[in-house]
Order: sequence, then C-alpha cells, then structure tokens
Amino acid sequence: MARIVVLGAGFAGLWAAIGAARKRDEIGANNDIEIRVIDRNSYHNIRVRNYEADLSEVALPLAQLLDPIGVTHGIGEAEAIDPVRRQISLVTGNGDEVLSYDRLVLALGSELMRPDIPGVAEHAFDVDTYAAALRLEDHLISLGRSAPSPGRSTVVVVGAGFTGIEVAAEMPDRLARAGITGNRRIILVDPNPTVGATIGAHARPVIETALSSLDVETRLGARVASIEAAGVRLNSGEFIPTQTVIWCAGMRASRLAMGLASGRDRFGRLLVDPFMRVADVSGVFAAGDVASSVVDGLHPTVMSCQFARPMGRFAGHNVVADLAGLPMLPLRIDWYVTVLDLGSWGALYTEGWDREVRTTGKPAKATKETINRKRIYPPLTGSKDELFAAAAPTVQAPPPTYGVR
Ligand SMILES: Cc1cc2nc3c(=O)[nH]c(=O)nc-3n(C[C@H](O)[C@H](O)[C@H](O)COP(=O)(O)OP(=O)(O)OC[C@H]3O[C@@H](n4cnc5c(N)ncnc54)[C@H](O)[C@@H]3O)c2cc1C
Repeated sequence: MARIVVLGAGFAGLWAAIGAARKRDEIGANNDIEIRVIDRNSYHNIRVRNYEADLSEVALPLAQLLDPIGVTHGIGEAEAIDPVRRQISLVTGNGDEVLSYDRLVLALGSELMRPDIPGVAEHAFDVDTYAAALRLEDHLISLGRSAPSPGRSTVVVVGAGFTGIEVAAEMPDRLARAGITGNRRIILVDPNPTVGATIGAHARPVIETALSSLDVETRLGARVASIEAAGVRLNSGEFIPTQTVIWCAGMRASRLAMGLASGRDRFGRLLVDPFMRVADVSGVFAAGDVASSVVDGLHPTVMSCQFARPMGRFAGHNVVADLAGLPMLPLRIDWYVTVLDLGSWGALYTEGWDREVRTTGKPAKATKETINRKRIYPPLTGSKDELFAAAAPTVQAPPPTYGVR
C-alpha cells in the first residue's frame, strides 16, 4: 500500500487530506493508498478566530472530520524531513518515531516570530494558536476578578498589521466582558509611521477612523525595548504600566521548510508550482502558509486562509493524481479580497491587490461573520459526501457583500 502523509491539519492540511481522500475514492484506490495526517494537536483550529472572545467553536476534533472518510491521523511533533529516504522524524506520546511516505503534503503553516527582546518570552501573550488564545482569555478573566492595580485595565498590542489591528479593535468588548471597565486603555505599538503599513493607502483611513472611534491609542514609529510583569518600555523611554502585552508582530513559515533544498521567499515559504509541487524536491507537495505559489500569473499567494484552503484542496487532489499517474490540476485564482474585523465599529472589506475599499462598518462585519462562522468551516455532519463535495478542486467565488446596490 502506498502512503501519503499530510503534515499539519490547519486550513491547508485538513483540506489536502479531504481532497486526497476524495480523489482516492473517485479512482477506486481506497485499498491501495493510505492517507495519514500528523499534527501536534488532535484538532483543526479555525485559527483566524483566535482573536475573538468566544473560543468555543474554534477547535474541531480531527476524528469528527477524518474518520468518516477513512483518513488516519496521529498526534506528533514533526522534527525533520528526509526527502531522500522519504522519511519524517516525529516525537509522539510513544517517543521518537520515523514515518515513511511515498508522497508528502507539507502543510505546517506559519508561526509568530518572537524576537529576542527582554521579557517577551516570559510576559507577552499572543493569539497565534488556540492554546495561546485560551491563555490570553484566561488571563483577561482572572484580571477581571483581581483588585484594581496599575496596568490592570491597559492592554498593549504590539504590531499594527492585520492581526494586531483585529486584536486591538476587539479588546474594548473583551475587557468589558471580563468586567474591566474604568480607565480602560488600549495601545497599539508599531515601528512603522502608520497603522496597517502593508495594508495600503485606500484602507488606512477606514482603519484609523475605526480605531479612533474605539479609543485605541497608537504609538507609531516605536519599538518595544523590554517587557516586565508591571509593564512595557518603549525605545522612546516611555514606560506603559500594563499586565497585558499581546505580541502580534511578524510571521514566518514553519522552520521545517528550511530543511528542504528548495527555493524559498523572504518569509521562508517554499516556492511551489501551480500543482503545489515543491521545486526540486521529488515527491513533496506544499500548501498554505508554508508555501508560495503565483496564482494569477503575477501575484504570489498571501499567508491567509483565503489561499491556504484552495491550495490544500488542489494539493490533495494532485498528490493522489501524481501517485496514480493521472493528470494534475493547476491552481489559478483570479480574485483577492481582505476582510478585516474592526470590533464593534464593524469591519473593512477590500477588493483587489490594491485593496480598494468595497464596504465598511456593519455591512462589512456581516461579510466577516459569514466568513468566520460559516464559509471556512468544514461540514460538521460527519457525512462523507458533504466532506468530499466541499473538497472538490475548484475555487470558490469571492465572499458575499452586503449593503452594496
Ligand atoms: C489571529 C489571526 C487572525 C487571522 N485572520 C485572518 C483572516 O482574517 N483572513 C485570512 O485569510 N487569514 C487570517 N489569518 C491567517 C490564517 O490563519 C493562516 O494564513 C492560515 O491558518 C494558514 O493555514 P495553514 O494550514 O497553512 O497553517 P495553520 O492553520 O497554521 O496550520 C498549520 C498546522 O500545522 C501544525 N503544526 C505546525 N508545526 C508542526 C509541527 N512541527 N509538528 C506537528 N504539527 C505542526 C499546527 O498545529 C497547525 O494545525 C489569521 C491568523 C491569525 C493568527
């Protein structure tokens, strides 16, 4: 029996596994090909929702999604890949293990970079993973129960990119929910001279309006010098008393991508062709944040679930087709949107690579909620047919807009 291993069960890995099972079923190869998913967790994290207060629906058990389609799965930390021997070194609950593969789909995603600044490792929170998001939520709840003290009602968010803006904009509601109301301050810190430096000039005024209406302060052109239990010091010398620093600055591809002798971009992402094959590494496909593919003839994918999900579906289809000697399908996507949550103010919906503003406020929030709560979820019914239908190697239409005539 041939074995396909999918490393990672995030947006790319989950959809690669379901897409592969779909294709395996279609060609009648269920008894010839094993599909095995390995992740450090037993759940699929709807990672884009980790900034929200209600985390009750963001960790979906893998068994619920993979058992109905005959995909095996295990919990393990992938430590290294040997593409010559076609083996993966894992650390599992049983100790060190070596897993062989005939084809590999690498879908280990990205991780937040934690710089070597004093106090970051000890004191900073983040929302990069479900576990980190739970830790932050527990912290806010316990702050709400504690006696007022300097810094209890101040939150410093470091990094004014997509994630940092969403975290900061959500924070007034989250603090209120935790019972922290008086003297509330939310401060967004970024070394760039503007918020959303990479988001673009069309979108920025909308973001600035929203942050200002939510009373989010900014410290721009500023870097964190150190963090301690009582607060954060900026390189300007300013000390902000706070018990909550949330690090949201900088993402890079999984470090396991570094072990493959292939081209990479500045985020450490592996360059893949339109079939999701890793250049120069035989038998290895990659999808999601760990990979970069030019999808419209011009633009490389952006680290996002918007791209990770179709990359996964196509990688899954193609890895089985490749193994069976059948034609593969190229991934081509001719649209790009961003939908940024701006807390109780609403959201921002842009279209195109120049991020032209399409809708703002409540109508954009309706789109964001449709995406976060419906569009990016796999079917949860346990129906094989529904899972396979959702994993077809096709590209969805852009998300709906509301309030546009
Ligand atoms: C707070 C937040 C908000 C976001 N908002 C948006 C948004 O609005 N829109 C958007 O498009 N994108 C958004 N993103 C980005 C989006 O979440 C990622 O682009 C997406 O998750 C990438 O999917 P992936 O499958 O490549 O990686 P991931 O979803 O990160 O999945 C990787 C998987 O690999 C596993 N893994 C990693 N390393 C190992 C290892 N060594 N061994 C075993 N398992 C391992 C992880 O446990 C995980 O399950 C947001 C991200 C965050 C953190």
